[in-house]
Amino acid sequence: MPEHPYAVVGGGPAGGAAARALAAAGVDVVLLTAEDRPPYDRTVLSTDVLLDPDVAVPEVWPPGAEWRARIDVRTRTPVAGLDPDTRVLTTAAGEQVSFEAVLLAPGAEPRRLRVAGSDGPGVHHLRDTGDALSISHALGRVHRLVVVGGGVLGLEVAAAAAMRGVDVEVVEARPRVLGRGVPAPIAAWIVALHEQHGVRVRTGAAPDAVQRSPDGAVRGVRLIDGTVLPADAVVVGIGIEPREHLALAAGLACDDGILVDASGRTSHAAVFAAGDAVRMRRTGESHGIRLESFSAAGRQGEVAAHTMLGRDDTFADVPWWWSDQYDATLHSTGVATPDAREVLVGTPEAPLVLSMAGERLVAACGVGHGPGIARPVRAAGRVIAARGRVDVRELRTSGGDPASLTAAFRAAARASV
Ligand code: ADP
Repeated sequence: MPEHPYAVVGGGPAGGAAARALAAAGVDVVLLTAEDRPPYDRTVLSTDVLLDPDVAVPEVWPPGAEWRARIDVRTRTPVAGLDPDTRVLTTAAGEQVSFEAVLLAPGAEPRRLRVAGSDGPGVHHLRDTGDALSISHALGRVHRLVVVGGGVLGLEVAAAAAMRGVDVEVVEARPRVLGRGVPAPIAAWIVALHEQHGVRVRTGAAPDAVQRSPDGAVRGVRLIDGTVLPADAVVVGIGIEPREHLALAAGLACDDGILVDASGRTSHAAVFAAGDAVRMRRTGESHGIRLESFSAAGRQGEVAAHTMLGRDDTFADVPWWWSDQYDATLHSTGVATPDAREVLVGTPEAPLVLSMAGERLVAACGVGHGPGIARPVRAAGRVIAARGRVDVRELRTSGGDPASLTAAFRAAARASV
C-alpha cells in the first residue's frame, strides 16, 4: 500500500481545489508545494499586495473545515521526479512519496525578459508571494518604473504603482495592449484610464537592454529603437510558460502544456493534471486550450479530483476572468473565435463588446468603474453556456446600462434552455 493513496503536486488554485475535493470525499491526500505556505489566493498578488505589502494573503481553504486534517501539506517541498509506473514521486531533497494516483498542478513560470542587463536586482517577475512582496517593497522606494508587457498582469502592476505615486511607463511590443482576448474598444478604455492616472503606455516598443549604474542599480531601459527610458526598477509581465518538465521527464504527452482530456486525464492512467500547466482538449477540439485563469484552474483541479475518485466529471465551464485596475473592473467570459464579429454595446462609461458567431454569442468582455460590469458579463456567460442567441439590435435599444443588459442576457439565457 502506498503511504498516501492520493498525491497532489502544486499548491496553486488547481492543487488547492483538488486536495480539497479529495479530502472532502473522505480520502487522505499529500500535497507537495515548493512555496512556503498552503494554497492561497494568488489573485491578490498583483493588486492588494502591491498596494500594501502588509496585507494578509487569504488561504483558499476555510480554516475550520474538518476535511483539512486529511491533507498532509508539505511546504517548501519541490518535486524533482515522477515515476508513473512505480508510482513514486521524488522530492528535490531526495525523499520518496508513493501514491496510487497523482495530480500534477505545478502551474506556470513567468516568461523571462532576456536582454542585456536583465539579470540582477531591480528587474522583477511576478508569480508568487515572494515576488509580489519584493515588488511591493520596491514600489515604496522607487520613483520611476518601467513595466514591460501590456497584458493583464503588466497593467495591474502599472495601476498599483501609479496609485502609490510612482511614475510609470508601460512598454508593449504589439500595436496595442491586451491583444490576447480583450477587444480593442475595451483595451482603449483601459489605456485612457491609465493615462488619466499619469501612466504612459508605449506600444510597438520592446526593450533591448536594462542599463545599470556602476553599483549595479537599474538606471534605465533602452528600447530597440534606441530610446532610453529612465527607470529605477523594471517589472516584467510578458506572459507565462506551463511548467511541464516533470511531466515531460516522466514520458507524459505534452505540447505547450501537459495534455489532458476534459476530465483531467493525462496520457498515463495514474497521472492527472490541472491548472496553468495543462492544455485541455475537450471533445471535438484538436489542439486544445490553455486557460490561464484562476477560476478555470480551480474547477479543473476539482474535476480531476473527481476523476481520480472514479466519478464522472468533465470541465464544461464557460471560462471567465476579471481584472481590477484603479477603481475599474474588467470582466470577460467565453472564448472569441478568430472569425467572430465584434459588436459594441453598453455605454461610454461601461462599454461591453460581444463576440458573435452568426446570431450566437461566444464571448463578452466589458469594463467600468466599480464592480457593476460583472453582472451583465456573468449573465452573458449563461447565454454562452446555453449556446444561446442574442438580438443585438434589441440590446442596442435597451439603453445599454449594465442593469438592462443583465436583464436582456438573463431573458436570452432562459429562452435558450
Ligand atoms: P499576462 O496575462 O501575464 O499579462 P499576456 O501574454 O496576456 O500575459 O501579456 C503579455 C504581453 O506582453 C503581451 O501583450 C505581449 O505582446 C507583451 N510582450 C511580450 N514580450 C514582450 C517584450 N519583449 N517587450 C514588450 N512587450 C512584450
